[in-house]
Amino acid sequence: MNILTQRHMGIPAVWHRTSSQPGPHVCVGMATHGNETEGLAVLEEPVALLKGSLTLILCNPEAVAAGQRYLDSDMNRLPEGLNGSGREVARAQELLPLLQAADVFVDLHSTPGPTEPMLIPVEGAPPLAQALDIPLVIEGITELQTGTPLAALATGTRFGVEVGQQGTEEGRKTARRIFRALLQHHGLIEGTPEPGPAPVTYRVTGSIHFEDPTCKFLPRLLAGSLAGLRKGTAPWVEKGEVVAYGDLGALVAPETGYLLFPRREPSNLKTEAAFFASREA
Ligand SMILES: [Zn+2]
Repeated sequence: MNILTQRHMGIPAVWHRTSSQPGPHVCVGMATHGNETEGLAVLEEPVALLKGSLTLILCNPEAVAAGQRYLDSDMNRLPEGLNGSGREVARAQELLPLLQAADVFVDLHSTPGPTEPMLIPVEGAPPLAQALDIPLVIEGITELQTGTPLAALATGTRFGVEVGQQGTEEGRKTARRIFRALLQHHGLIEGTPEPGPAPVTYRVTGSIHFEDPTCKFLPRLLAGSLAGLRKGTAPWVEKGEVVAYGDLGALVAPETGYLLFPRREPSNLKTEAAFFASREA
């Protein structure tokens, strides 16, 4: 199905169906970051609705066409109250009535490096991780990060999922599997999802910002940073330890913990370069 030719409530790149039977309204967002297209694989899943409603949103079609994470602003760091300008803010405003009409909203993302699937809750979602066989939960990021993630604009149960590594068939397969499990879990399609083991939960406790654009994390902190999360072998740093170097000198860890989502490229100094987290086995 080509979602680009679909429209719902006058909003482009949105597919919507309502069953004749009442039931929950599930909404799935994909490519909120235009270079994370693994979620689009769910469009290949045949869907025979038994009840409820299903809305599929290609969140940032212009960034997908450009092959970029975003054009004017990151859709996961939207300004407070959507007070701002640019194409992503305009698209978020356009999508708002859809996000607010959903009982459940999941936003499908993928990561630059290898990872196991992870659930990033905004509200009410952690119990879904085991039901959807998502082995990792990262709590507390939304509260700590700068800006508002698109999923936080929804009003029901809302969360993000990192389905796997960008550009991999594995990521696409995982997106389809989690999509099917989500619809089954809410009774929208036939079948019962196979639950996974109890997930491993990380709680984000802090963040670190680069002090100049030349700052780079030590290679040991970038290697396999997400791949070892479930086993607890992800990079661990002690408060006061040097974690990055730049033209202004060394940057030390402000706290002790696992280093999550370290940026590889020189980044916008206003957004986090990495997060710190503790592990709740
Ligand atoms: Zn993303």
